[in-house]
Amino acid sequence: MVPVKKEFVNNMFSVEGKVALVTGATGALGKVLAKAYGYAGAKVIMTGRSEGKLKELEDEFKAENIDCCYVVADPAKEEDVQGLIKASVEKYGEINILAVCHGYNKPQNILEQSVADWQYIMDADCKSVYIVCKYVAQQMVDQGKGGKMVVVTSQRSKRGMAGYTGYCTSKGGADLMVSSMACDLTAKYGINVNSICPTVFRSELTEWMFDPESAVYQNFMKREPIGRLAEPDDFVGFALFLSSEASNFMTGGNYDCSGGYLTC
Ligand code: NDP
Repeated sequence: MVPVKKEFVNNMFSVEGKVALVTGATGALGKVLAKAYGYAGAKVIMTGRSEGKLKELEDEFKAENIDCCYVVADPAKEEDVQGLIKASVEKYGEINILAVCHGYNKPQNILEQSVADWQYIMDADCKSVYIVCKYVAQQMVDQGKGGKMVVVTSQRSKRGMAGYTGYCTSKGGADLMVSSMACDLTAKYGINVNSICPTVFRSELTEWMFDPESAVYQNFMKREPIGRLAEPDDFVGFALFLSSEASNFMTGGNYDCSGGYLTC
């Protein structure tokens, strides 16, 4: 029997010294994860389309001695993403972890939604994931040291919903893309690719759903074995796990992070 190694166990959750690239870093989940990587000793590259917000984050993180920088880029634009990889490597020499945290939705009934609006959601939530993962994967392959990719999709990738023909389709596509990328990238190049499928996490946009008096909250509680909606820390723990060596045997998975929403 191969004994468990003390040094491995002591360091298996560490991302210290790694270089982590976070898309959608200006968003609720991207921001908490970027900061968590920083607290855990990683060097953090934050990206998004809003320079003002990225600069604010950089100032905030640097005030806490987090080694970080930002690069403005639209994840759905190939040339932006190529520039992002170049700038990241110029700054830190390599990329070891990718966290895809950007996303967009504009719910509309299919009968009222234009094809252009639907395509915009598909580009923002699916095509962009392909572009970012493709170019980061190439960089990781060139480095020859493997890597970890964590893509945030949604619990809506597994269930339909009124007004969500764009969002559910793109998130479902991203989940299958993750599984397919694992087939391309893990055995040969040591790059683990997984997705996290969340339900509702507390953020500025979702705060209203946490009101126990609201119908939305009460409906969720009928199907939430855990008895509450999610806090940012619930996401951070899972994402750090999938970014670390502790999850070395996990790839191609679409992992539920919903407090058990799909179980009842
Ligand atoms: P937010 O809306 O807070 O932020 C997402 C970020 O994505 C924004 O800050 C924005 O950054 C970027 N973004 C917005 N629109 C686009 C677009 N059209 N194209 C590219 N980037 C865009 O989202 P959350 O942090 O709450 O969610 C993160 C991910 O998790 C998303 O994929 C979301 O779908 C998913 N999710 C979130 C849940 C939640 O409860 N929070 C539940 C289930 C899934 P910038 O403007 O700087 O580019």
